[in-house]
Amino acid sequence: MIYLDYNATTPILPEAKNAMLNAFDYLGNPSSVHAHGRASRKILENGRSQLAEYFSVPARNVVFTSGATEANNMILKGFNGNVFVSAVEHDSALNVRKDATIIPVDHNGIIVLEELEELLKKSHSPALICAIAVNNETGVIQPIDEILKICKTYNAHLHVDAAQAVGKTDFVWSKLPSFTISAHKFGGPKGVGALIINGSIHLNILIEGGGQERSLRAGTENIIGAVGMGAAISSVKFDSVKLSRFQETLEKDLSSACPNVKIFGKSVQRVSNTTSIAMLGVQSEVQLMHFDLNSISVSSGAACSSGKVKASHVLKAMGVSDTISKCALRISYGWETTQDDINTCIAAWKILVDTQSQKQNKAHYA
Ligand code: PMP
Repeated sequence: MIYLDYNATTPILPEAKNAMLNAFDYLGNPSSVHAHGRASRKILENGRSQLAEYFSVPARNVVFTSGATEANNMILKGFNGNVFVSAVEHDSALNVRKDATIIPVDHNGIIVLEELEELLKKSHSPALICAIAVNNETGVIQPIDEILKICKTYNAHLHVDAAQAVGKTDFVWSKLPSFTISAHKFGGPKGVGALIINGSIHLNILIEGGGQERSLRAGTENIIGAVGMGAAISSVKFDSVKLSRFQETLEKDLSSACPNVKIFGKSVQRVSNTTSIAMLGVQSEVQLMHFDLNSISVSSGAACSSGKVKASHVLKAMGVSDTISKCALRISYGWETTQDDINTCIAAWKILVDTQSQKQNKAHYA
């Protein structure tokens, strides 16, 4: 089996797995004052410190959540004022505020800075901007520094969804007023993430109860998850040199095997682990099934929670027609990917191209 769906979720890093296995031996509730409780508190706080160190922020700025979805919700739901979200956000940001204004993107999926500035100029109440650092479907990187500059000019809060950016970009994290991360996108376990708040902002307390996480997120902490996320961040392994080589080979060979392809975001800054490509005339489901039958796991656009394939709102916002977008495939790779995996993927693509052209020829002569 070949796994080429790292943007959906990554394999667990051995360092994270071992740290989690070790954490199972900690019995205490981190809120308990006795020795067992204190020991559990210590490993929980160690996980927090590992994150704080990686992002160069104070440990108290890190709030553990169940993932990026919850963290995005905490920021967006609590904001009292005008909310602006880019058209290419993940659903966990795009679908939260019905009153949000959509910031348009260009044909590469990059936020149109002039439009953002115009929107902020016209906004008379406090403003919150939500921008996805790296798009989960295309891998396109937003110009976060420029966006931050504009936000500062207009005194707006910038929240960054960094779920797909960790380990793949070199942002100066401590400059961002707030951002969200998700452990399973960088080798940690699923179901744990964090909201990191460097600026001051009113948060929506989604889960009330005890005083955990500085009363921002009640409930006994997910110690195993926090420990796994801390260990994963300390050993995060996206090797951009190796991955860029894979990206180059993959995109060159897939394009030359099939004249009818479109690669999304190819001309702008992208992370090196993502290829978003459409084989025109062949529906994503057909491509997905073909790869699956060849023991290769890839994805069509975003992995939907329902498992259904729908036309991508990201590609739509980039001006891609539904006809083309329904043929889009996302191939995403990482530290366990080998050159052989990439070669097998290219070979499977070539078989699909051949079968499709044979089908078309048959139809032609029928
Ligand atoms: N934002 C982005 C950019 C993502 O890729 C994802 C996961 N697909 C999420 C948010 C949601 O993350 P989680 O699974 O941790 O809720």
